Amino acid sequence: MESARAFDAELCSCLDRGDQRGAGTWLVQRHADQVLALCRAMVRDLETAEIAVEAALTGHLLFSTIHTNDAATTVTRFLEMGIEPFMISSSMLCACAQRLMRRLCKCKVQYEPDETEKKLAQIPPDFKDPIFKKKGCNKCNGSGYKGRTGTHELLVMCDEIRELINKRATAQDIKIAAVLNGMKTLHDDSMLKVRQGITSIEEALRVVKVDEHMPKVEKQPEPPPPTQDKHGGH
Ligand SMILES: [Zn+2]
Repeated sequence: MESARAFDAELCSCLDRGDQRGAGTWLVQRHADQVLALCRAMVRDLETAEIAVEAALTGHLLFSTIHTNDAATTVTRFLEMGIEPFMISSSMLCACAQRLMRRLCKCKVQYEPDETEKKLAQIPPDFKDPIFKKKGCNKCNGSGYKGRTGTHELLVMCDEIRELINKRATAQDIKIAAVLNGMKTLHDDSMLKVRQGITSIEEALRVVKVDEHMPKVEKQPEPPPPTQDKHGGH
């Protein structure tokens, strides 16, 4: 508790002075007894990573960004920076990976994907919704795309992943464990957005490659497509 207060004070004074420690600038806020800490830059050096881990271990809910290929690689990035495995496994709650894909413009055209595409897009045999591809019009400057959408994956810490981190397992092994524990990968989510008619198979594959050597997991019921085109950029 004492160390939490001291750390809190240190973070706050850094903020007051507009200070930087490592590559991170810290924003600290108290909200209903919970101290939220936000690293306003990327965690990319040992000093910033150490502060992040220390903040998390002393009761701060900390959010930050880090450049990695996917959610599982977050762990290996911290290891590469020199953070001890048990410090990561005991301080990390989750890692969310995000990439941006272009949204199909309203000029999109419905088509019948071939068998290879159906497999890639994880289209079940009883699937009735239309699949679209790009066309191009004046509004999208002929590109077929207008606006962006995200594809995400959320790795949530669990005992199995904690053990793998402590053993310095590879990012691939951590990813497999996460998938077995219910994680939808960046690829899965990008293909969901294909089935929802938001983007094309071509665009989804340009942004996220197909997962390799992933275990087959029982399919969950499909979430309903978004009702409003809020982020279409029209
Ligand atoms: Zn268009």
